[in-house]
Amino acid sequence: MRGFPTLRSMTHQRSIEDLRAEVDQINRDLLTLLSKRGEVVAQIGHAKTQEGRPNHYDPAREDKQLKEIESLNPGPFTSAAVKAIFKEIFKASLDLEESNDKKQLLVSRKVKSEDTVLDIDGVRIGGDAPPIIVAGPCSIESEDQMEQTAAFLAAKGVKILRGGAYKPRTSPYGFQGMGVDGLILGSRVAKEHGMLFVTEVMDTRDVEIVAEHADILQVGARNMHNFALLREVGRSRRPVLLKRGLSATIEEWLYAAEYILSEGNSEVILCERGIRTYEKWTRNTLDLSAVAIAKQETHLPVIVDVTHAAGRRDLLIPLAKAALAVGADGIHVEVHPSPATALSDNEQQLDFAGYDKFSDSLSGLLRQPVGV
Ligand code: PEP
Ligand code: MN
Repeated sequence: MRGFPTLRSMTHQRSIEDLRAEVDQINRDLLTLLSKRGEVVAQIGHAKTQEGRPNHYDPAREDKQLKEIESLNPGPFTSAAVKAIFKEIFKASLDLEESNDKKQLLVSRKVKSEDTVLDIDGVRIGGDAPPIIVAGPCSIESEDQMEQTAAFLAAKGVKILRGGAYKPRTSPYGFQGMGVDGLILGSRVAKEHGMLFVTEVMDTRDVEIVAEHADILQVGARNMHNFALLREVGRSRRPVLLKRGLSATIEEWLYAAEYILSEGNSEVILCERGIRTYEKWTRNTLDLSAVAIAKQETHLPVIVDVTHAAGRRDLLIPLAKAALAVGADGIHVEVHPSPATALSDNEQQLDFAGYDKFSDSLSGLLRQPVGV
């Protein structure tokens, strides 16, 4: 007869407390087994990394495990439920394998927790150093242009002069830069004004000559994926300013830096310069979250190129303020004595009066290290 259990039947039944205690113990046992599984999986991940197998996900292997689990399932859970639980375990294991891999990246804060601070002939970049300004024309065009710009910027306290001698132009018929003559001119003028000289290198064959004249080698956005070039600048003993690619994810950008560090050159400055989006009112979209993430995930200095991000002069001040507010270690801005007649990027370079206004607006933010 059904109904309330009698005192007699209850004596056969285990109490809820008792059952819960057993469940708690099973949880502990499951956890012990899961941890043991995690440790074995981590060893597999390590072995794969050592064998140079970048793909940790192995769908055929996963499928085989699920089929076996299904065939051995004694119930009471359905096969679908058991498979869903194991899929979660597989996913957590894969994350573990991959995160262990990332932990070993040389750019990662997990490998080196303190900020990398570059000291290039007394100019400090990153960490507790006040934010730096990298400024100068888009292209090196003439002695007069470089002389005027360097004299003006040096008087304003700018320590790093930029100027392209090899220009990555969209059209092969556009001004391609002065080449070696530009390198010689840029480095001489910078030296005369007590500044460092940074210029872009686009070709592995030019790394040696550019490194001979420049204090910092720039890898431009279009070459961020040029792995041969990254390795070559990694082998040079010059610091590298690495722009983020036009459509590169943050991860791809950091892996590009890893190429340079893996060749033994740890002096890398990351430079966010805007990414391509559907937006047309700016030349690129400045990704400030990438700056904050790069600062969090890596120990490298991160600067922001407001000129190429915005592609328009009227946004340079607010974007630079925003960049410093999220923790950028410096700002990169193009300055030309006569932007209207510049041979490249004449929409966005600042003239001297424009630069004065720009630096006045940022002066409060440039004196102190920003930190995050
Ligand atoms: C530059 O800085 O001269 C340049 C071409 O920038 P980017 O590579 O970011 O387009
Ligand atoms: Mn430019």
